Amino acid sequence: MAHVVILGAGLGGMPMAYEMKEALRAQDRVTVVGNGPNFHFVPSNPWLAVGWRKRADIEFPAAPALAKRGIAFEPAGAKRVHPADNRVELADGRYLDYDYLVIATGPKLAFDEIEGLGPSGHTHSVCHVDHAEKAAQAWQSFVGDPGPIVVGAVQGASCFGPAYEFAFIMDTDLRRRKIRDRVPMTLVTSEPYIGHLGLGGVGDSKTMLESALRERHIKWICNAKVAKVEPGVMHVTEHDEDGKPKREHQLPFRHSMMLPAFKGIDAVAGVEGLVNPRGFVLIDAHQRSPNYPNVYAVGVCVAIPPVEVTPVPTGAPKTGYMIESMVAATAANIRAGIDGRPPSEKATWNAICLADMGDTGIAFVALPQIPPRNVNWFSEGRWVHFAKIAFEKYFIRKMKKGTSEPFYEKYVMKAIGITRLKGRPPA
Ligand SMILES: Cc1cc2nc3c(=O)[nH]c(=O)nc-3n(C[C@H](O)[C@H](O)[C@H](O)COP(=O)(O)OP(=O)(O)OC[C@H]3O[C@@H](n4cnc5c(N)ncnc54)[C@H](O)[C@@H]3O)c2cc1C
Repeated sequence: MAHVVILGAGLGGMPMAYEMKEALRAQDRVTVVGNGPNFHFVPSNPWLAVGWRKRADIEFPAAPALAKRGIAFEPAGAKRVHPADNRVELADGRYLDYDYLVIATGPKLAFDEIEGLGPSGHTHSVCHVDHAEKAAQAWQSFVGDPGPIVVGAVQGASCFGPAYEFAFIMDTDLRRRKIRDRVPMTLVTSEPYIGHLGLGGVGDSKTMLESALRERHIKWICNAKVAKVEPGVMHVTEHDEDGKPKREHQLPFRHSMMLPAFKGIDAVAGVEGLVNPRGFVLIDAHQRSPNYPNVYAVGVCVAIPPVEVTPVPTGAPKTGYMIESMVAATAANIRAGIDGRPPSEKATWNAICLADMGDTGIAFVALPQIPPRNVNWFSEGRWVHFAKIAFEKYFIRKMKKGTSEPFYEKYVMKAIGITRLKGRPPA
């Protein structure tokens, strides 16, 4: 009998549990360790933060869903991973032994790296449902007494799509309330140019996103480092192409949401041979730890290098399609290990993203993630807004039901005709 433990019940961990269970033999066991009792759908947090969703719409208890497939759930959270001993120490002091471990714990949000940043400081966040809920309360007061907004992603961030997404969602909400004229908006980003997205740009993302920001009267500052945030004022240093400070900005705001840099969670940070200096889990081409062959990792917690060096540090995003393919490869490789075969499956590591803009949306496809690419496609349209809602409904329904199907592979890839482009030489 093999026991597979999965750390994290998020976008990577839940499908991982279902796919793993399906790939295992009848006698094998799967246990998921969550950080609390609930699953929540992170991509809907920006909607929650303006009151377009309620918390209950995007969150549900993980245990009953997992139990439908005979998967055990521990909500206590992992305190420390001990890969040399094949065990996980839980926050309540118990230990869980494993034959295989899959780490799917997402990011630790590094608000502490900038004075005054984050929900304990003076800016909001949409990275966690608790933060989005707090942001939603502040939004209700803000729309009663509006003023300037500063939104964006700080130095070292790797997740830029939600910054644009949230800027456009707030813009849409304010227009619907007919108070947009009272809200000067500025997007502050560590990207070297608008639409870089941590990917070196995708298709015409620079022009299209600049144009969308211009159309919606949102100003921007690129190559930006946030020095500190004080109540109602963000101190930002703009840098030149060589990374030298160019201009100081003091940006007043009445509402602000800034995406932080990410790092690895405390339970793995500093574990010898398991993680890099930022605490991201080191993996080989098969999602497997090079030093602990029975440990795998999927999702935002894995270490991947930036696509390119930028004047202000940025990281590469890990998005849904990439995570979906990491999950599929990991399930197949663990089963191979149990059968005494070497791992052979690899994740595609391609970036496909649907980002909502409130009433329309943007979609991009970068195959592979690092340029030059075989497919480099970026598009805007109302269909993306509806595709994103479909993704939310589909994913939550499947997770509650206890099944996992590759949404991106099955629907998004087909919808945008990429299946036909697979394997073709660069155009
Ligand atoms: C606001 C936002 C919007 C996004 N929108 C999109 C989108 O539209 N499309 C897209 O492709 N990608 C999107 N992404 C990127 C990515 O798909 C998501 O970040 C996704 O949630 C990552 O999945 P994950 O499993 O790695 O992390 P998560 O979904 O964050 O899951 C990690 C889980 O691990 C748990 N955990 C943490 N510490 C411990 C511990 N010590 N013990 C046990 N459990 C622990 C957490 O509580 C969490 O449940 C978005 C990201 C953000 C932040």
